[in-house]
Amino acid sequence: MKIAVCVKPFEGELTPFDASALEEALCVTGSEVTVVSMCPPSCSDMLRRLTRLGVKRVCLISDPLYAGSDTLATAYILSKFFEKENFDAIFCGRQSSDGDTGQTGIGLAANLGYECVTGVMSVVFSDGAALVSTRTEETEARLPAVLTFERTKELRLPSIFSRLGETETLDNTVIRADASRCGLKGSPTRVVRSFERDAGRRKCKFITPDKLLPLIERLKTAPRKRVEEQAPDSGEKLGLVWAVGDEVYNKAKHIAEKCEKLKKYDVLTLERMIRASDPDAVFFGSDTYGKVTSSTLQSRLRTGLCADVTSLSVEDGTLYMFRPARGGKVYAEIKCVTRPALATVRVSESRSDVIISGGRGVRDFDLIERLAERVNGTVGASRGAVDRGSAPYERQIGLTGKKASAVVYVAIGISGAVQHTCAIEDCEFVVAVNPDKSARIFDYADYGVVAASEDIEKLLSQ
Ligand SMILES: Cc1cc2nc3c(=O)[nH]c(=O)nc-3n(C[C@H](O)[C@H](O)[C@H](O)COP(=O)(O)OP(=O)(O)OC[C@H]3O[C@@H](n4cnc5c(N)ncnc54)[C@H](O)[C@@H]3O)c2cc1C
Repeated sequence: MKIAVCVKPFEGELTPFDASALEEALCVTGSEVTVVSMCPPSCSDMLRRLTRLGVKRVCLISDPLYAGSDTLATAYILSKFFEKENFDAIFCGRQSSDGDTGQTGIGLAANLGYECVTGVMSVVFSDGAALVSTRTEETEARLPAVLTFERTKELRLPSIFSRLGETETLDNTVIRADASRCGLKGSPTRVVRSFERDAGRRKCKFITPDKLLPLIERLKTAPRKRVEEQAPDSGEKLGLVWAVGDEVYNKAKHIAEKCEKLKKYDVLTLERMIRASDPDAVFFGSDTYGKVTSSTLQSRLRTGLCADVTSLSVEDGTLYMFRPARGGKVYAEIKCVTRPALATVRVSESRSDVIISGGRGVRDFDLIERLAERVNGTVGASRGAVDRGSAPYERQIGLTGKKASAVVYVAIGISGAVQHTCAIEDCEFVVAVNPDKSARIFDYADYGVVAASEDIEKLLSQ
């Protein structure tokens, strides 16, 4: 079983999703694993160390021609590599940590004409097929196929007896990609600017622990005060825009003379419709359907796709799309130089009147479950809590988890890292509980309780 694992190192490390994909490949009985990475030569040493884990080959695809490639160009360059190889399966992580788009694996499959399964939690191979469990279903894919993995496993450590192997560096004399489809030239999406973001900051009013439960009950029905953040509205509009789903339609209608709501057509039907009607832009929700369909269309139409857009504006006839970037630390303003512009628009995924979310500071996560039950809410978690095994990944709120949409969001034992707070901006009221009064979460909360989770525990038993 020959398995290739595509990885994109970030800050000298594999992302948790890529690490899971690699571990899953190494766990397949009798597998021969090749790591493939399109990245600068400076990543060579880090990738080389993976040979100590049992990886047979490490292929580093690197050429100055490839610098500045967006996901369309990257998927194209990777597919030129795979056209010359013979793998039974290609494993990818769900998304990278810098781009966070989740488009490359899907685009790669579209270019190669392979089946693609996303959201993979586990796989077994039998009779030329991959039998896959995803977050939502059991499914089967004919081999060769591309599978994109969720966070399922921790990557093993090297054994002390392991030997360091070599990396192969492949430049464009080997890959033979068309130069006009590589790098900036071949990338229809352009980052116009990135800027620090202050969105989601709130003025925190501190209360005593005993007021917490009555406050949650009161806020459930308190008058709504937040309006969703929007990009500056120039009043200009595009001609024809298509939007899949109500929430996406509501986010897109202000930038189009004619905004039409679409149902979830299959890729080939949509491709035909787009070629016939030539809309300015097509927007999808950032759910599985939206991600897979838009990434496949991007490759088939060779047009630009911007992922996880939070707001849209039009100026001088050009569409500008705004999204969190670099791990949520900044906002990027992106335009697309081809038509139609494609985008997935971030829609709320964890929706509830009340979300009680626990972080690494909560020692006994049972408290979060019980509090949620008491106030009729649902449970959320920070990545700190998920990493520690206190809550399943499905509960994770944040940049690499779900976006929260609640009337009341209660964060207990969560420090308020930017990757967490960027996903709670749409919540009506945020309440934070933390013993450290200087914790960043209080800058993003309407109400604060300076207390340990044990103090909340006492309230519940009263
Ligand atoms: C690319 C990338 C993506 C990421 N994606 C996400 C994401 O989707 N979601 C996410 O949440 N994070 C994400 N992170 C991680 C993020 O940067 C933080 O590391 C994470 O949010 C920290 O989780 P935490 O607040 O639970 O833990 P910590 O930062 O360890 O904070 C724990 C808090 O608990 C408090 N505390 C201590 N004792 C107690 C007590 N007894 N009772 C109550 N509180 C106590 C402490 O004061 C502290 O503020 C991502 C990071 C990267 C680089």
